Amino acid sequence: MTRNDTALCFINKDIERISTQKPYVKEILDAFRPMIIEKKRLLMEMQSNGKTFPLDQGKYLAGVPLVQQCDLFFPGDPWQKISLGVCKAIREGFPNLAENMERLAQQITSGQVNVFEYFRSSDDPDEKEIKAWAEKIPMDPGALGVFIHMAAGIILAKRAREAAEAIAPLSWSKGYCPVCGSFPMLAVTKERGEKWLQCSQCSHEWVHPRLKCPYCEQESPMGTDVVFVDTEKEDKAFLCDKCKKYLITINRPAELEKTDPIITAIGLTHLDLLLQEKGFTPMASCLWNAF
Ligand SMILES: [Zn+2]
Ligand SMILES: [Zn+2]
Repeated sequence: MTRNDTALCFINKDIERISTQKPYVKEILDAFRPMIIEKKRLLMEMQSNGKTFPLDQGKYLAGVPLVQQCDLFFPGDPWQKISLGVCKAIREGFPNLAENMERLAQQITSGQVNVFEYFRSSDDPDEKEIKAWAEKIPMDPGALGVFIHMAAGIILAKRAREAAEAIAPLSWSKGYCPVCGSFPMLAVTKERGEKWLQCSQCSHEWVHPRLKCPYCEQESPMGTDVVFVDTEKEDKAFLCDKCKKYLITINRPAELEKTDPIITAIGLTHLDLLLQEKGFTPMASCLWNAF
């Protein structure tokens, strides 16, 4: 077994473990499993292109993320390989999107659709642009949005790893991601009570003050960072009275350090449902928490 096979095997084991502990999230985890595995596989196979990131430290310290300072999508990225892998994973996990993904994959293979062209002009998926692009293919704009989100997430995750060393010594005080500017999908409390926010898009993680709302920056008036959502010990969330956003928060013991935060987040969707019923909205809208 290669190192890559072992890594993919760990993902499957983590999904099985959570599905056994919480049978009510098995279906949703199974739907996302092909996407999680494909993302990991593509990231492991993607070569670093050796590019450096021209970073203005002053701007960075003032809260301007990397994505607003330099290009993070390159023409030399393996767009075709990533795009076809993403189409296949979405098709497997979400049979209702299969027809759309087949049509898109055909057009990518035949060269009628060049995925990089979309990213050349836009850092962030814009609803109007997605709609116009979907009409041309033609395919459902919602399905195309899922595809773009996932393809962008893979490239950005690669960039986050490449940029990690350069940004590590710099302090970042914002609740959005220093690499791609997205809000977090999960907070993880680690050793010494440090709170690490997990990016919903590029998988970067950064430390953030425990009592400050990552979304609107208000300090928690209750003097506490989390409330218990459910009776289970682990089920906690940061709730903000001011912006009415929530962020699910977990304690990560050392033995779970390797679990992909996406698996953890999808395994906690029952909390998303509970919190949204109470009138709160997630800091980051993800494919699995939009009800
Ligand atoms: Zn990010
Ligand atoms: Zn807030």
